[in-house]
Parts: sequence; structure tokens; C-alpha cells
Amino acid sequence: MPKINKKKKLKVGIVGLTSCEGCQFSIMDLGKQFLDLLKEIEIVQFRLLEEKVFKTPKMDICLVEGSVVTKENKRIVKEIRKNSKIFVALGNCSSMGGIHQIKNYHNPQKLIQETYFHSKEIDNPDVLDIDQIVKVDYTIPGCPVNNLEFLKLVYSLLKDIDFRIPPKPICYECQSRGYHCVLMDGEPCLGPIILGGCEAICLKSQMPCQGCRGLFKGAQVKNHLQHLKDLGFSQEEINHLLEIYGLRNDIEEQNEESKK
Ligand code: SF4
Ligand code: SF4
Ligand code: SF4
Repeated sequence: MPKINKKKKLKVGIVGLTSCEGCQFSIMDLGKQFLDLLKEIEIVQFRLLEEKVFKTPKMDICLVEGSVVTKENKRIVKEIRKNSKIFVALGNCSSMGGIHQIKNYHNPQKLIQETYFHSKEIDNPDVLDIDQIVKVDYTIPGCPVNNLEFLKLVYSLLKDIDFRIPPKPICYECQSRGYHCVLMDGEPCLGPIILGGCEAICLKSQMPCQGCRGLFKGAQVKNHLQHLKDLGFSQEEINHLLEIYGLRNDIEEQNEESKK
């Protein structure tokens, strides 16, 4: 990992590409904890706080939210990478392509033309995970992110402590909180293969996990998808589920890798 000079306040940027800005709002929701952090770091880019034309200063850490949907997004993301010692993918849109990636699987030309009234000016590249475009040093998963993981990452970098998210599934958090298992009722829950850290928030409301935090290392993906088929879900239904948060391409890539 590149060395950062801790004698001066760390220069930190938070940038949104194509996104709903929910991950940035989640950081703002930290309130006093965010203000306390400002004693340790200098924010050099955060459009949610200041309405300025985007320019890319030199940064120690840049957290990038949102998907790369346009050529301009791609140009900015490459510029950020060049100017940042540490590049962090912030949230599902950035790290996994997010809901924007659904387009890749459903006639992108037709969709974009219908959405933008047949304009010829619209860029329409496939939506990639951000690490397919630039090197990513850290990822904070989720839609939106768990803002405590954001704090933990920044303080870990400040104190030279290794940052990692324990590779435990959502089921672990779900069951340790005593939530009812909706998979047992036949709901298509992805909890057994998804990285914990959101406190199984969807299961608190008995909503099946749709996988916004991505796969954890070692997840038994094939077995779980077979289980969903055994419950009666078709491949098409499973594909739609995996497309919601950009899991489908990750699983297809894993399958390709395992064939080599
Ligand atoms: S990951 Fe979710 S909350 Fe964050 S920007 Fe994307 S859609 Fe919004
Ligand atoms: S409801 Fe989902 S996350 Fe919770 S234990 Fe069952 S399968 Fe796991
Ligand atoms: S339970 Fe699943 S879908 Fe819900 S926030 Fe957690 S990882 Fe995301």
C-alpha cells in the first residue's frame, strides 16, 4: 500500500459519479462523529458540502461513490486514480456496478433510446465494476454503505492498522440477532453467500437479502444457487435477483475462472 505522510492532516476527497448520493448521505449521517473526524483530516473534495465545478486535487485518500456510466465518469475516475494515493470504492454502485449494471443484460441500446427519447448524444457503454477500470485499494460495500465501516477505514489508515471486514455471511448476523429465517419459508434470500457487516438490516424487516454487499470469500455460491432452484426458482428468476446489485457478472466470472 502507498505510504501516506501523517505529519500533515490527510487530504481526503469524497466524490460521486453516477449515483443516488445515498452513500455520501450515509457518511453525513455520522453527525458529530464526522465532525470529530474533521479534526484529523482535511476534506479537499466533497460536492455534497460545497457546490463547485469538479476539479481533482492531489489526495491521500479518495472515496469514490457511484457507477461509471458515461465517458466523463470514466475520465474523472482515471484522473482521481492518478491523483490519489489510496483509492476507495464507496458502496455497491462503485464496487459492483450497482443497479446501473442491470442494463448490461437487457438490450442496452433499446433501453437507453427509450429512456432518453432517442437522443443520439447519450453515451452507452457497458457498466463495469470500478476495479475493471482502475486499481482499487479498499472497498466499503453496501447500498448504502455502513457509515461505521467508513469511519473504521479512515481511522485505520490514520493509525496504520490493517482494515478488513471479517468474511462472515449475513446469516451469522441474522441468526445471532434471532431474526426469523425467511429462506425456510421459501423466500429467495442470498444471506448465506453475502458478506456480513450491515447487521442483517433487511432481515430485521423480514425482507430477504438481495446481496448489496457482494460475495464473501469462500461463499458456497454454486450450492446456494442450486438450493434456490430446488426451492422452485427458475434460472431467469435467479438471474434477475443477481442483477439487482451487480452480483451476476461476479458469479459468472467466478464460474469461468473455476473452469480454467
Ligand atoms: S450504492 Fe446505493 S446508496 Fe450508494 S450511491 Fe449507489 S444506489 Fe445510492
Ligand atoms: S433469513 Fe437469510 S440471512 Fe437470515 S438466516 Fe435465513 S438465509 Fe440466512
Ligand atoms: S441484508 Fe443483504 S441486501 Fe440488505 S443491506 Fe444487508 S447485504 Fe444488503
